[in-house]
Amino acid sequence: MKRLTLLASLSLLLAPVWGWAQSTHSVFFQGSDYELNIYRIKGDQPGKTLLLIGGIQGDEPGGYLSADMYSEIALEKGNLIIVPRANLKSIILNSRGADGDMNRQFHDNPRPNPMLKVVTKLKELMGEADLFLHLHDGWGFHRPTWEDALHNPKRYGQSLIADTEEYECSDGRRLKLGEMARRVLERVNRKIPQKEYHLHFFNTRTDDPSTPFPAMRKTATWYALRQHCLPAFGVEASKNLPSLELKVLHHNLVINEFMRELDIVPMTPKVLVQSPRIEFIEIDVNGTPMIVRPGEPLTLKRGDTITVNKIAANSPRGISCDVEGKGDLNDLGNTFTIDRSTDIVFRKESKVIAKVHLELGRHLGRYIPGRTRVFVVEVNGHRRLLLDGEVLELTPDDTLRLLASFSDGNNTVSPRLNFKGWVPKGMRNRGDDRNFRIALSDPLQKKYSMNGQGELYPVVAEGPSGRKLGQFLVRISPR
Ligand SMILES: [Zn+2]
Repeated sequence: MKRLTLLASLSLLLAPVWGWAQSTHSVFFQGSDYELNIYRIKGDQPGKTLLLIGGIQGDEPGGYLSADMYSEIALEKGNLIIVPRANLKSIILNSRGADGDMNRQFHDNPRPNPMLKVVTKLKELMGEADLFLHLHDGWGFHRPTWEDALHNPKRYGQSLIADTEEYECSDGRRLKLGEMARRVLERVNRKIPQKEYHLHFFNTRTDDPSTPFPAMRKTATWYALRQHCLPAFGVEASKNLPSLELKVLHHNLVINEFMRELDIVPMTPKVLVQSPRIEFIEIDVNGTPMIVRPGEPLTLKRGDTITVNKIAANSPRGISCDVEGKGDLNDLGNTFTIDRSTDIVFRKESKVIAKVHLELGRHLGRYIPGRTRVFVVEVNGHRRLLLDGEVLELTPDDTLRLLASFSDGNNTVSPRLNFKGWVPKGMRNRGDDRNFRIALSDPLQKKYSMNGQGELYPVVAEGPSGRKLGQFLVRISPR
């Protein structure tokens, strides 16, 4: 059995499961600090496409958590393209910009830096969209006139930002950004009962030589206008709102109203019939939690108690487990003493989707915390611990010294340790190879290797009567 950390196990659960045929999820730069996840949701009926980008600055969770929610919806009409986390590295570090501000890289000559590959992708997405919302959390509360240090025209929070009242594209199209923003805000603010949290329109007059905000010329929205004639707005929740939920909610309200503007219609509830799948099961054995994958057997001793604590499935509802011969149909959370081999059967509604066989035996086929055998060895003078059944990878250059072995049942006297196939030079072989310096370049007797194949050699812990207590395996690969 593979023991997974709970965190790693949970991440399996969080991986999106796309039952909706119209949705796609693409990953770029996977496994890197700038991994980029793009979700495309296509409605049943054709329509306009809204691009949502969140998390370009890593310390603005209202924006990226709002975008997250849209990456799982379904649409009756129109389309969404969602980049919840444009700047993963900065999000992990909860920093505005770990390698600089990604939202200042959309001008013509940015200096080479690791963010530009992401910026290039975001620019490409703009070419697919009819409208672009850039989701941010900003400080304070934007107001058209000065009220105090937190409420004034230079504050970004609780605003809907356009670079200009009206933009004329090179082909002559005129984008009436201010008009659209005010229309949307009128509807958004009706849904916000606290007047002090109402959003205000914020025109940064990006192209005006006298603008107090010339840095906006390096941002994504200004790029979208100039290069793609794409109506683009910054949505700013305030970092000073009393809760994260409120930040996310205000982003959602703005996105919903822009969807209405574009006649993009969500489908509620999303129709999603997934084929059920269990990722892993957490079973307490004598009170110690263990992670078991479906189909893996679990070896127990007579009288062990088990409790199925948690079933991690792609769809959490309608899942049950039945320890056969014990309890009733639904045994989740119940503790049983196991006195014979049996199965745990897992169902989604009436359908059996997985089984775990409980095998009673003396020989433990797996690592059970608190009951395992540990081997203490030295490899090239460095101490190492190995668990029962583990494989120690060595080369002919290495030297090995077997020191001791112990288990939960006996940790005072080490049993004999017998390296099968190895014989100490010039001595009678007593079957106890502890404390010898074993050079792995020494010839080994192949017939003692696993299946006689000369690949894996067992090192066996033997009790007084020669009874095998456990073993680890040595694999010698060419250097
Ligand atoms: Zn921001």
